[in-house]
Amino acid sequence: MTQKTSKDPLIERTLVLVKPDGVERQISGEIITRIERTGLKIVGLKMTWMTKDFAKKHYKAHVTKAFYKSLEDFMISGPVFALCVEGISAIELVRKIVGATEPKSAAAGTIRGDYSHHSYAYADKKGIAIKNLIHASGDKNDAEYEVPLWFNDSELFEYKSVHEKHTL
Ligand code: ATP
Ligand code: MG
Repeated sequence: MTQKTSKDPLIERTLVLVKPDGVERQISGEIITRIERTGLKIVGLKMTWMTKDFAKKHYKAHVTKAFYKSLEDFMISGPVFALCVEGISAIELVRKIVGATEPKSAAAGTIRGDYSHHSYAYADKKGIAIKNLIHASGDKNDAEYEVPLWFNDSELFEYKSVHEKHTL
């Protein structure tokens, strides 16, 4: 699968999910604001509830791992918001804003560092997934697989943001 690419290779599209813990804690807006206020642009947005089959497609790299069952249980436990975010080096930039996988060690100032506190030790002891609020494509390959998995071309929009007038 390939995604519709911008003419400028530095302008990327990446997939972001507000996971069920973020939706249930009613902080989706704050999470999305963190991303939006950098100047990155939302070009697709939907609320959906993942099925087991879809979770296996989304996290195909993790299906054989010991924590996969707990990850799947977590991801299908409630609805998620899915966003396609576009901008300069969007993939790397969103990962920077999101922070490290383990909330306990995620830097202050990142979404995971500021809004969550789970640790690997706690998740392992309880046999549950790390609850870290948000997913973001890990690299260009992941983004090129994940964006078309979640969004049809007709669900992605081209428009000019105010930031593009002032920062590009
Ligand atoms: P994501 O792919 O959701 O953006 P990530 O890229 O930071 O997160 P991955 O290694 O891809 O981290 O793991 C996917 C998700 O699986 C993590 O975000 C977390 O919710 C869960 N997870 C990862 N490792 C563990 C683990 N050892 N124990 C429990 N849950 C885990
Ligand atoms: Mg990942």
